[in-house]
Amino acid sequence: MSEKRIIVAIDGPAGAGKSTLAKRIAERLGFVHINTGAIYRAVALWALRLNVSLEDMYRLEQLAKEARIQLTGGRVLLNGEDVTDEIREPRVSQAASRVSMVPGVRQALLSVQRGMAEESSVVMEGRDIGSVVFPEAQVKIFLDAEPAERARRRALELQEQRDFTAIAGEMQARDERDRRRAEAPLVQAPDAELIDTTGLSLEQVEEAVLRVVRARTSNGRAAGH
Ligand code: C5P
Repeated sequence: MSEKRIIVAIDGPAGAGKSTLAKRIAERLGFVHINTGAIYRAVALWALRLNVSLEDMYRLEQLAKEARIQLTGGRVLLNGEDVTDEIREPRVSQAASRVSMVPGVRQALLSVQRGMAEESSVVMEGRDIGSVVFPEAQVKIFLDAEPAERARRRALELQEQRDFTAIAGEMQARDERDRRRAEAPLVQAPDAELIDTTGLSLEQVEEAVLRVVRARTSNGRAAGH
């Protein structure tokens, strides 16, 4: 790892506020923001489009190896096509959490994620960034919030009139799969700072995260530089 590069790893369950926060922190620090959920979602979308069974571990692994996924300027490209909006659909959320259980898929996407942070300092968010993708990250945050609050935020974000209970139920199913899977489950890394965002404003969470960044780096720069 280049000595100057800093990795800020933000993990946590769906709806904890990772994406909005990671984007702001990246802007504040001048780092690149990488939403790793988008990578799993892109593979899941491809599988859905090709009617690949979500049980077919071999085909899913192949797709993960072959997919060309680019995250540029806030857009998500799958094999050159802009799929930013489509990957946010609830059917893709559910499929992503199934696809992400496959060890071969995780393995293939590990190098994609590591490759994305090769050139610059990053704020990378997901489920296993501090535990598996970058266990050596200088800054690790585990963002959490009460389930009802997370479901409320997700409902607002989706701007959907769908039944709140349905959204909450889907989210819970996804979280359970993420926490229980054998490979790289959602866990708080032992050296990650837990921030419970329930009842906090975005500004308050941002300040809390920046405090951790300052404490663990020389004000957003790698120690010694
Ligand atoms: O973060 P987001 O909700 O968009 O992620 C979609 C799904 O991708 C998650 O439910 C999880 O199953 C999977 N994922 C993962 N590891 C990551 C990021 C996302 O398994 N680092």
